[in-house]
Amino acid sequence: MRIQAIGMKLYNFNSGPSILPQSVLEEASRAVLDFNGTGLSVLEIGHRTAWFQDILDEAKESVKKLMQLDDTYEVLFLHGGATTQFMQVPMNLLNPGETAAYCDNGIWGKKASREASLFGNAVVVADSSDKGHTYIKKDFTVPGNAQYLHITTNNTVEGTQWHQYPETHVPLVADMSSDIFSTQVDFKKFSLIYAGAQKNMGAAGVNLVVVKKNILRTLQKPVPTIMDYRKHIEAGSLMNTPPVFAVYVSMLTLRWILAEGGLEEMGRRSREKSGLFYKTLDSLPVFKAMVAKEDRSEMNAVFFLADPSLEAEFLELCKKEGMIGVKGYRTIGGIRVSMYNALPLQSVQVFCDLMKDFAIRKG
Ligand SMILES: *Cc1c(COP(=O)(O)O)cnc(C)c1O
Repeated sequence: MRIQAIGMKLYNFNSGPSILPQSVLEEASRAVLDFNGTGLSVLEIGHRTAWFQDILDEAKESVKKLMQLDDTYEVLFLHGGATTQFMQVPMNLLNPGETAAYCDNGIWGKKASREASLFGNAVVVADSSDKGHTYIKKDFTVPGNAQYLHITTNNTVEGTQWHQYPETHVPLVADMSSDIFSTQVDFKKFSLIYAGAQKNMGAAGVNLVVVKKNILRTLQKPVPTIMDYRKHIEAGSLMNTPPVFAVYVSMLTLRWILAEGGLEEMGRRSREKSGLFYKTLDSLPVFKAMVAKEDRSEMNAVFFLADPSLEAEFLELCKKEGMIGVKGYRTIGGIRVSMYNALPLQSVQVFCDLMKDFAIRKG
């Protein structure tokens, strides 16, 4: 919760870029003026200095620690957003004509598979569009010749989340942009994990890529140098100037997660917040949840007004009460409440109270 200049309390439910821990914002602000007493701004230090190397090393080590991964995995911080990875993953993992399997449970999965089809044979093996992407399709078959299976672990826009990852005989690749580090999961199940930082890990502009080195083969095609994971591994994420400030903010957020108790604690908080939220939602008939209960996201709750003509009024009330970023995605509408790691339980409590008040007035 923040206090705006006019004295109003703000509750930040933005879907991304989204809320970050207050202590991270404060430390990052100080570092913009004076990085660790060096007299230089973190924006002014060279990326090949020991100062930045320490930032990068701590960020990488924190990722490995949180994910409990050994040295068969490499951690990279690369330019761009998750959308860059939609292209970079198939560019690095597919020869022309080879097959990759994709789960299309929402807008981001669909975009990922569309990009993959530029580099190989992208087969959509699961598609939940028959019910407007309100569930996760779990029964499907992966072609035997697929090089990998791609899933989106949390569908940010539609409000669904995989709570048990699929078992598959091929390497598993995941877009974890919107639920990375929100709870303890078995990261070893994955051969490649990527995430844009701005949902749960830091500032926009940097991608985390965690790759099991043994899935990187020599391909029968050229890969542009800046896109080539193997060259980035060789260069230790320093092939060219990385997004220094965005890496720094990620490092601070990772440090914060570890200090708060790691992924076990993040998971406990996420379950507490989303549990309270969905319990309230289910108790109020003026609101309507479309997502299948077992697939509900702990990060992004998407719901509607039972009477759509009340939506504008509810959104207006949210605005008046300082609830930021709760309008649903432009193609879906409705309401979306994002409950990332840095969102305090109190913000969810205040939002639930607002829903109850609205329900009483309309009931
Ligand atoms: C936000 C988001 C994206 C897109 O990220 P950009 O950084 O804007 O490219 C992709 N996948 C998921 C799951 C997202 O939540």
